[in-house]
Amino acid sequence: MTRRELIQSASLAAAQPASAQVNKLSSPSQLKITDMRACTVAANYDYPIIRIDTNQGVYGLGEVRDAGVKGIALILKAHLLGKNPLSIESNLAAVRPFAGQGRMGGGYSAVDMALHDIAGKVYGVPAWRLIGEKRRDKIRLYCDTTGHNDPKIYGHRMLKRKQMGFTFFKMDLYTSMVEDRPGAVNQSGAATDKGLKYLCEYIAAVRDAIGWDAPLAADHFGRLSVNDAIRYARAFEPYQLAWAEDLIPYTNWRGYKKISDATTTPTLTGEDAFGLEEGFQNLIENQAIDIIQPDPETSGALRETKRIAECADSFGIPTVLHFAGSPVGCMASVHLAATLKNFVVMEHHAVDMPWWPDLVTGVPKPIIQSGHIPVPDTPGLGVELNEAVVREHLRYPGYFEPTPMFDDFIVSGYRRVGPWPHFDEDGNYVNKITY
Ligand SMILES: [Mg+2]
Repeated sequence: MTRRELIQSASLAAAQPASAQVNKLSSPSQLKITDMRACTVAANYDYPIIRIDTNQGVYGLGEVRDAGVKGIALILKAHLLGKNPLSIESNLAAVRPFAGQGRMGGGYSAVDMALHDIAGKVYGVPAWRLIGEKRRDKIRLYCDTTGHNDPKIYGHRMLKRKQMGFTFFKMDLYTSMVEDRPGAVNQSGAATDKGLKYLCEYIAAVRDAIGWDAPLAADHFGRLSVNDAIRYARAFEPYQLAWAEDLIPYTNWRGYKKISDATTTPTLTGEDAFGLEEGFQNLIENQAIDIIQPDPETSGALRETKRIAECADSFGIPTVLHFAGSPVGCMASVHLAATLKNFVVMEHHAVDMPWWPDLVTGVPKPIIQSGHIPVPDTPGLGVELNEAVVREHLRYPGYFEPTPMFDDFIVSGYRRVGPWPHFDEDGNYVNKITY
């Protein structure tokens, strides 16, 4: 297939009515999970995509966090086989003990997406309807922009994003950008006050390019102490950033509390945190952070991230979504964002990848329209994979190959297996294990 044919077949599939995708023969109470398979797309990061199959032909797609691995989802397969996929909360509770922070939250998150995709297809409703109401028709995006050591060139790069239609911006502001200048960086690797003046020249150049009223955030400062982070955040105050991101590790909520209390630059963190109780509660309930930024591919996807955002909202804290994966996880995040009362903006990390939108069919193209993604009303997540394009970009050979090696439990808590070998009352050794 040529590229043109691929795009044509993609738009043909997109033109099919949504009702054609609904399995009208499905019988919800008899629905059972029969398989979980995966494949990995090699892109700006690896995108591990999973598929959960059922006994009625309905299946769901999900995605492990970008740059994670599919195994973190596949080890959950044995916990889900034979279960009704519509029992979303029970199924998620069963796999929650195996969800960790960072990329280790990606398996749970992929399963959440796939279960909402299945349930939406079965009931004929978009995934957003399963977790709430549609509060907005399109989701505002900000895009990652690669920096440059020349402030003028950096400003020009950001202006190009604005010309593409984006209305919200984020710049990388590495301390290393100024480390070659005399007296700019101290012995612990943080910018001196002189170095901070140089860093602020980059912010000023970007501000001059895109306008001083445009929302502009910044991240990637390097490893900072709490006191250094306070100096950075105060130096940024004249530029009224939308936020300064990940000044210190998200696990240090006490440090964040000190920083947030010491500056008017809004603080933000959370892209590597999983779960409300496990990852976000301390940051939120101690009002240690001004804005939270869960990545739905780590934080627990639709259902858990909804809980996190609602908790944040009750403390007056807005929610930004971090995102750097494929269109599958992207649309899952769009469904989530549509329902959030305190949603601000969501990240997009693949602006410069021409084939990114071609990975899927089912949604209007272009996927991004004037810096926004329209919220689908089609059942489930509303996307199908474009097999030919996915196959063209696989990290490893094989497209959703069988996974019998994950049929048995690989990770588990207490499991009553039995019967156990022992001597009975007559002294006979019973239940000996033989192969
Ligand atoms: Mg970040």
